[in-house]
Amino acid sequence: MLKKGFFINRIPVLIIDDDPNIIKLIAESFKHDFSVHFATSGAAGLDLAISKKPDVILLDVKLPDVHGYELIRQLKNNPQTHDIPVMFVSSMCSVNEQEVGFKIGAIDYVVKPIEIPLLKMRVRTHAKIRQQALMLEQLAATDSLTNIANRRKFDEVLSHELDRARREKTSLSLLFIDVDNFKAYNDNYGHGKGDECLVAVSKLFKQTVHRPGDFLARIGGEEFAIILSDTNETGACKLCDDIKQGLQDLCLPHEYSDVAQHVTVSIGVTVVEGENHAQDAKQVCAWADSALYYVKENGRSGYSVFRHSK
Ligand code: GH3
Ligand code: MG
Ligand code: MG
Repeated sequence: MLKKGFFINRIPVLIIDDDPNIIKLIAESFKHDFSVHFATSGAAGLDLAISKKPDVILLDVKLPDVHGYELIRQLKNNPQTHDIPVMFVSSMCSVNEQEVGFKIGAIDYVVKPIEIPLLKMRVRTHAKIRQQALMLEQLAATDSLTNIANRRKFDEVLSHELDRARREKTSLSLLFIDVDNFKAYNDNYGHGKGDECLVAVSKLFKQTVHRPGDFLARIGGEEFAIILSDTNETGACKLCDDIKQGLQDLCLPHEYSDVAQHVTVSIGVTVVEGENHAQDAKQVCAWADSALYYVKENGRSGYSVFRHSK
């Protein structure tokens, strides 16, 4: 018997097949262990792949509106679906046809008539491999102390967001945040307390940064970064003020700071817009760094926006 609060996660599977008998057969025999979605055309299948994010797609080769080969190409080219394993389920059974299926990106090829027990085993295996891959990807992108994104993920997101800002001609703000006098904090309270402080500070940033397009990462020991897509200088400065106020309210004691009685941060801001859209991530980071340096040199516990000389 299942204990209260426990539940079984059924594996989401999408069947794309124009034969209602095949859909019925698979759906009926999969219903206890899998969450089955189905479409009878390629277009509807692509929509469902995006909205339901299945762990495995079972794809017929011959569909009324689009050939299965073309649909797999569309699935592999779409960033929202490219990593979903696709299994062809087809009555085209020659070695050559199966070889082509694998070559164009299918993870497996099942020949009709379907042997349900074997199909289930194969789907389970592919779903498990996918879930493990997603977990590894998540681990590789996460900072283990604070549970927010790490430097590697930051680099990836920044270049992606810069490309998008350039394409859509929108402003992007980048904030580099560094905890003030943190060496003194560690030296006096101990490394363990230092770690707790970093966790508390990152939680505050997480609460303060709440728009869906905002991105927070820990990019070094006591250094954090925030990417604000579609945000101009006014928006970025508002966030800096909110962070400063948040730290004041949080009031983590720091007796050894030379700027306040509590933990504070310095923030360097740069806003990418207009002609600066042409610059790469390295240059944009250098601007934010230079603004941060200015704050460190001029009293800490504040923020500064990088100014481009004309
Ligand atoms: P400033 O105001 O100029 O930024 O001075 P600071 O003391 O904060 O900067 P400094 O670069 O001299 O020292 C940073 C300190 O951060 C030194 C290092 O021991 C500490 N640190 C870096 N990573 C971690 C970490 O993961 N945990 C802890 N507890 N401390 C860390
Ligand atoms: Mg530092
Ligand atoms: Mg510091």
